[in-house]
Amino acid sequence: TLTGKGLHLSFGSNHVLRGIDLHVERGTTASVIGPSGSGKSTLLRVLNRLIEPDQGDILLDGRSVLKDNPDELRRRIGMVFQQFNLFPHKTVLDNVSLALRKLRKMSAGEAREKALAQLDLVGLKHKADVRPGNLSGGQQQRVAIARALAMDPEVMFFDEATSALDPELVKGVLALMADLASAGMTMVVVTHEMGFSRNVSDTVTFMDGGVVVESGPPSAIFDDAQTPRLRSFLSDVL
Ligand code: ATP
Ligand code: MG
Repeated sequence: TLTGKGLHLSFGSNHVLRGIDLHVERGTTASVIGPSGSGKSTLLRVLNRLIEPDQGDILLDGRSVLKDNPDELRRRIGMVFQQFNLFPHKTVLDNVSLALRKLRKMSAGEAREKALAQLDLVGLKHKADVRPGNLSGGQQQRVAIARALAMDPEVMFFDEATSALDPELVKGVLALMADLASAGMTMVVVTHEMGFSRNVSDTVTFMDGGVVVESGPPSAIFDDAQTPRLRSFLSDVL
């Protein structure tokens, strides 16, 4: 269970997060939607302490993590970005196994076995020996997901994981994310894919201007919006 409580963050005079509360029960998927610049990516970066909040608390399973070493939290949270950030000169297998050897101190053999198992899970075991440049964008994103999953994270963050993909490749990545959700992974998914938000996530959080304007189950957000801001956002994106 991941909780953000009263999170504030400013970049200089730009007050980007203005008291955000987010609660994600273990085994559930929370989607975060909202207009460009509303603070969605910043929220994810604060929640895994790539940026320290100015105010507020972050709890994992009810315990504040702000006093721990930030690396510890980043080990417990897997992150997948719009840009896959794979190493272009390493093979797919090495991309997935590198952190297992360097951070988890696994032997080469163990890391290889684990990486191959993760690649199998995302349907790409047969691509283990090629370089990322020889894969489609959708395949590269599945490798990035395998790499994150290989670290056995307790929570997975996705930030617009399908936004850079050609339309025909989006479905495969969303299907993989939906599989993870139904397998019981705890996930926070920032997305423009309203179909995913409505059909896969357990809760939806609508952000605008650095605040949570509405949050609730998909039916409340998509069929029963309470605020003009959410109604206008939905009419723009649906
Ligand atoms: P999008 O849908 O376009 O990805 P977003 O909701 O993810 O938008 P953020 O990237 O979190 O929005 O940005 C929120 C605000 O914070 C914007 O005003 C942005 O200019 C500002 N911002 C984000 N990152 C930084 C940074 N590293 N330094 C300064 N300002 C930043
Ligand atoms: Mg963003």
